[in-house]
Amino acid sequence: MVRELISVTELPTVPLRPVVRGTTNGNGAAPRHDHGEGPLVDGFGRTLRALRVSVTDACQFRCLYCMPSEDMTFLPHGELLTPDEIERLVGLLVGMGVTNVRLTGGEPLVRRELPDIVARLAAMEPDGLADLSLTTNGFLLERHLPALAAAGLQRLNVSVDSLVAETFRDITRRDALAQVLDGLKAAEAYPQLRPIKVNAVALRDSTEREVRAFADLARTRGYVIRFIEFMPLDGGGRWTADTVLTGAELKAALEASVPAAWLPLEPVPMADPAQTSRVYRFADGIGEIGFINPVSEPFCDACDRLRLTAEGELRTCLFSIGETDLRGPMRAGASDSDLAELIREAAWSKELKHHIGDPGFRPPPRNMSQIGG
Ligand code: SAM
Repeated sequence: MVRELISVTELPTVPLRPVVRGTTNGNGAAPRHDHGEGPLVDGFGRTLRALRVSVTDACQFRCLYCMPSEDMTFLPHGELLTPDEIERLVGLLVGMGVTNVRLTGGEPLVRRELPDIVARLAAMEPDGLADLSLTTNGFLLERHLPALAAAGLQRLNVSVDSLVAETFRDITRRDALAQVLDGLKAAEAYPQLRPIKVNAVALRDSTEREVRAFADLARTRGYVIRFIEFMPLDGGGRWTADTVLTGAELKAALEASVPAAWLPLEPVPMADPAQTSRVYRFADGIGEIGFINPVSEPFCDACDRLRLTAEGELRTCLFSIGETDLRGPMRAGASDSDLAELIREAAWSKELKHHIGDPGFRPPPRNMSQIGG
């Protein structure tokens, strides 16, 4: 049963389109159906293969686009899914066709059990996960790299919103750029963790000025830089459409800031149709820059993602207004097939699209750190 967090009555109706299994689906109000077996599909025919697992809602940073500067309370440890529970739920989802798992938070490196969780997921039968990655703010990365690599982590995404120490501090509200860059550099010593991706949320009147510095970082260190459009998940009501610096604007700023010999930017073919970023390579073949444009160029049509929050709520969209509690039933003794049924039902109800910018849009009652970005 998908629990509603806020009223759906204010949401606009959405155009329906043909769906599999001879039924139709609104934006989350799917009828019950025979969920059957096999790959996890939603009511619009999308096969769900990617899972973001939040291991904690806590974070040492207070990024202005992600959470309020103060008065954040985090979940008590007993409310977090245990490593056993995470392993069990991910195992069920892998059995239903999920192949890619990204661990996130909050800040996943503040969770002591993280290497244990990584090791359990890396050992998933029958064939292991095709992709097991971690998104981190990088602050504790250097210290934890040996354990994470030994546990079988495959890839890293490190969030770095500015390469200027004062700007970084203004955005994250922590004076930590040097330590984060040290963590990134330390990761270079682990060839099994490739590619190293650096994510920057694009902020108007700030990121445009740094595109050249990010381009230089991509070219000198080999990191794949990805700019993400600011989404209304800040929990502080800071977001308005005007605050979004679009990927197109940023790409134009990039092209204007680099030597002509590096241009044109050449599109890198998409490895996966569900890939969120449009990636470009400089003309001389050195350095890749990606743009994730969920606001200006939504990619919901190809979305194959589910999210599991730190306390065990299954979410089918970043902007879901409802979610499915898996921890409660699990702790009450639900069987694997009971849980699988809950998962399939939730997946079937996955939203058609996120509705940012549509009349009646309301952001979810969780900020990004409480969802798991
Ligand atoms: N603490 C980790 C980190 O910093 O990467 C993982 C959690 S963080 C919530 C995951 C990603 O979400 C980061 O790349 C962050 O920049 C992004 N993010 C957070 N709030 C966002 C927002 N309002 N719009 C776009 N991206 C956001």
